[in-house]
Amino acid sequence: MQWGDIMTFRISIVGRPNVGKSTLFNRLAKKRLAITDDQPGVTRDILETDVSSGDFSYKLVDTAGLEIAKPNSLQDRMSKLSLAEIKSSDLCLFVVDARTGLTSLDQTYAETIRKMAKKVILVVNKIESSRLNDAVNDFFQLGLGEPFPVSAEHDIGIEELRSTITKNIQNYRVNERNPCSGQSYDLENQVSTLSTDVLKPDNQIRISIIGRPNSGKSTLVNKIIGVDRLLSGPEAGITRDAISLLTTWKGTKFHIFDTAGMRKKSKINSRLEKLSISETLKAIKFSDVVVLLLDVDSALESQDLKIADLVEREGRSIVLAINKWDLVINKKQKLEQLKINVKNLLPQLRGVSVVALSGLLGEGLSNLHQEILKSHEIWNIRISTAKLNLWLKDKVRMHPPPKQNGNRIKIRYITQINHRPPTFAMFGSVLKRMPASYRRYIINGLREDFGIMGCPIRLLLRQGKNPYVS
Ligand code: GDP
Ligand code: GDP
Repeated sequence: MQWGDIMTFRISIVGRPNVGKSTLFNRLAKKRLAITDDQPGVTRDILETDVSSGDFSYKLVDTAGLEIAKPNSLQDRMSKLSLAEIKSSDLCLFVVDARTGLTSLDQTYAETIRKMAKKVILVVNKIESSRLNDAVNDFFQLGLGEPFPVSAEHDIGIEELRSTITKNIQNYRVNERNPCSGQSYDLENQVSTLSTDVLKPDNQIRISIIGRPNSGKSTLVNKIIGVDRLLSGPEAGITRDAISLLTTWKGTKFHIFDTAGMRKKSKINSRLEKLSISETLKAIKFSDVVVLLLDVDSALESQDLKIADLVEREGRSIVLAINKWDLVINKKQKLEQLKINVKNLLPQLRGVSVVALSGLLGEGLSNLHQEILKSHEIWNIRISTAKLNLWLKDKVRMHPPPKQNGNRIKIRYITQINHRPPTFAMFGSVLKRMPASYRRYIINGLREDFGIMGCPIRLLLRQGKNPYVS
């Protein structure tokens, strides 16, 4: 319970009435909690309790339920309270009912939740009967990621849900807050703040500049923030605990991860400094866009490739920046060679942006800024289901999937179920036997035809009928 002691992770259970929110609440809380009586004219209190899960604890909140009601009626006020709860929670469990199936009200609320919630797990309740398995797929349509089937009443899937919750808390711990102090520092105003709003407001891009020691990370960050603050030590108000720096660079607000290498600079001989994988991983998990900084002299050595691969596995967007470009004599030839090497050595990041720059002289920074924005946009891309399926039909016609042991693989449908990174689910039969080469054909097609270059793509294969037929 170490983390919960510092700042409590808040999970709210939301959904329309009767989907089983209270039953799920009791199941996760492992106790039965009395629900406070509704007093006429008094808004029902939102029910909450502390839950411990392994090393973590969190606050679990049962909301009154979302309803469309007359303005200012009790139901309306309760709904508003639920909405406020969605906004303030760190994770939202959006509960739907597999027995009733997908309703238009679910769709309306999914839209709201997608806009307001920081993070959502789509919980499909009441799946104790196996004939409801197919019904679960229907909920892909909500565009809230992969549905998570449970039966709150019969304790099915609850253990899995608990471990998914724990993973979310762990990720949050790395991403959102500094485990040491919970503070973030605003370089512009030189004030420290405890507000989580400052940590993840809209219109801010979280970036980190990572790479081997001596590739020029601190020099580049200094250029970006415009002052020599990183080297100037604790008297500037930057302590070892700070995890991110807030700055405006060329009109865009950025949160920059403050890597250990930068902070230690003044104290140790950087030539001896080793690449810390755990620090690098922390930086990657923090980021929307990762700038992998390579020394032009030794670019794309095995450690660089390993880091690039980590970024891909974590599903972050990436820009390759080749530093110390001022030292290169034949620039055109060098850049062409580097691009060929990137293509051959990092096939999983096909089309990734390569920017040449000099952190020391501040050259190429506009280009870097542009590529970061572009990369961020691609990472957030949303493609309509209609467009995707027109595309898929064409793709399959041009090059049908091969037969596997006499079985014809049938691809029926594709839809984007998530972004950051772009994640797609493809439905059909015998998809388990789909050869890797065909899967690559689809992924590369998505990249080229929708411009998802240099960004990780996830493709899930799902057995079963087209969930959108109805
Ligand atoms: P809430 O209004 O969303 O809080 O829903 P409740 O938790 O009060 O549950 C509504 C109804 O659904 C109750 O009759 C529950 O017993 C029932 N219910 C809850 N979970 C399940 C489940 O997993 N399977 C089935 N079949 N019924 C359930
Ligand atoms: P870090 O360990 O990645 O933070 O690297 P530093 O920012 O400390 O830079 C390591 C060395 O490379 C220092 O001597 C810098 O002056 C030098 N350096 C950084 N950027 C450039 C650049 O663009 N051009 C040249 N020529 N040297 C650079």
